[in-house]
Amino acid sequence: MANRKKPLILICNDDGFYSPGIQALTEIAAKFGDIKVIAPDRQQSAVGHSITISTPLRANKVKMQSGIDAIAINGTPADCIKLAHDKLLDRKPDLVLSGINHGSNAGINIIYSGTVSAATEATILGYPAIAVSCAEFGEDADLSGCQEAAARMIEYVLKNGLPKGITLNVNAPAGPLKDLIWTKQADSRYVEEYDGRVDPFNRPYYWMTGKFELLENGNDLDVSVLDQGKATVTPIQYDLTAHAFFDMVKTVKI
Ligand code: MN
Repeated sequence: MANRKKPLILICNDDGFYSPGIQALTEIAAKFGDIKVIAPDRQQSAVGHSITISTPLRANKVKMQSGIDAIAINGTPADCIKLAHDKLLDRKPDLVLSGINHGSNAGINIIYSGTVSAATEATILGYPAIAVSCAEFGEDADLSGCQEAAARMIEYVLKNGLPKGITLNVNAPAGPLKDLIWTKQADSRYVEEYDGRVDPFNRPYYWMTGKFELLENGNDLDVSVLDQGKATVTPIQYDLTAHAFFDMVKTVKI
């Protein structure tokens, strides 16, 4: 019998290596292969696809909550994937996972999310990648449904792979999994509501408390389906070209 190696699964997040979410993702991923956790050493939510270019990155051996070995990086989620790819892995991963994020990454959250960007960076580097987020923000949320949704998509991707340039973005409500549906990103935005205050030195400061606004509703849209209590998987891409508009204007003289 051929001595085939188990798949190598690289795991990252944006809430830091010590969060319950990455712990939960690690537990479920371990059923499918060998795991390697390389994640930010601190909270990096909403850093988007930012990378570190003017300060050095350090990779430190740490233990996760359960005692599993991990590597913590003093950088962003995208930094973690880039550094893992170039320096920190003995072999190339068969799959990259990011999450489980504490908080939804549906709708416009996708563009701000560090969790999604870790997965997107993996896609850019040529690895199949899945981001997983829980719609509930709390650190004590029941992540069992997110784990189940992650397991189904891990199985799917290990078997079928993903087309070049495509990342999967999974969101699930807290609690047991009801349903897992293919969806599209719902048009949505934050209407900023900065709370203005005054610091002890009498200087004004502002704290974002933006309100999420859903601009469309439909049975194939991530935010709507999540609101129905179901889990979603949205195929996303980093190619930001507006292809339909390009086709409209490509022969227009400018
Ligand atoms: Mn986060």
